[in-house]
Amino acid sequence: MKEYLNKDLYEILGITPDTDEVQIKVAYRKMARKYHPDVNNNTQESIEKFKEITEAYEILLDVNRRKEYDTLRGYSRRKSQNTETSRTQAHKAYSSVSNEKPRQKKTENKDSFSKIFNNIMDGLFQNEHPNKEHKKKQKPENGRDINFTVAIKIEEAINGTTRTVNVLHTEKCPKCEGRKFINGAKCPMCKGTGEISIHKRINVKIPAGVKKGSKIRVANEGDKGYNGGKNGDLFLTIEIEDNQLFKFDGLNVLCEIPITPYEAALGANIEIPSVSGNISMKIPPLTTSGQKFRISGQGLKDEKKGITGDEIVTVKIEMPKDLSEKEKGLYEELKKHSTQKIRENLK
Ligand SMILES: [Zn+2]
Repeated sequence: MKEYLNKDLYEILGITPDTDEVQIKVAYRKMARKYHPDVNNNTQESIEKFKEITEAYEILLDVNRRKEYDTLRGYSRRKSQNTETSRTQAHKAYSSVSNEKPRQKKTENKDSFSKIFNNIMDGLFQNEHPNKEHKKKQKPENGRDINFTVAIKIEEAINGTTRTVNVLHTEKCPKCEGRKFINGAKCPMCKGTGEISIHKRINVKIPAGVKKGSKIRVANEGDKGYNGGKNGDLFLTIEIEDNQLFKFDGLNVLCEIPITPYEAALGANIEIPSVSGNISMKIPPLTTSGQKFRISGQGLKDEKKGITGDEIVTVKIEMPKDLSEKEKGLYEELKKHSTQKIRENLK
């Protein structure tokens, strides 16, 4: 005895034995939306209910099974529906199951049910979930673009560089193929979302001459498109790292360097930073505060044009925060010996 013969499949779907195939589909969609485990917190009850209405739908949509069901239940209808051969396989699965022992029947039944379930899920929710892809009768859906920001050094901006970015892609879950459910239970891989996130390392060439805010497009490296839709693109927005020591003017590097009063007076060889590391610089005797020095070839390189900028150093005489007794004595000595009247011109 087939279990479903004890059930009122029409009542389960909220229809009458007169209902035609189109209306059965409509009724099923309505019920499935209401009882889909997805919208009912996946309670066991909702899963069972959903199975029940799906089973009713499958049986009533199969002309032969519906006929058999109607006959055995004593229902009469006006006319039989068009034969739908695609349901024959599901029918076979059910028929063979009915001869098995109860325990085996349960698992077998579950498997064949899931087959049917998945077939139905393919087409059912396409209108409600335009972002979720299904294999059949779906519009092409383009993948989303992914935006990413990368910070590079100014030298890299001038000469170009490469960056490996770790991009998080969203893709259709390979286990449930985006259907969210397997055998009527939440897909364990995507946990019922139908999507998974995967990390992908992508090498991106950043061309020479990029500016702050430049966007670099890497075609097809966004999220996957479905149903023949295009993949999204990956966009890298360029940030140029701030540099505490330098300012930049074209290829020239500008830098301010403090020097002591005695270095200014006597001249000195001092070590200063440059874009290529520390370099030594000669301070001539009697250097004044604010004096600028150009250090040729220590700026940024434009490899394409084969030119290099300069480093322009502005020196600032900086007094020590404190003077020792010895230093004070020496300044007193200096004062005694100084002959130059530097404010003479102001009179
Ligand atoms: Zn899944």
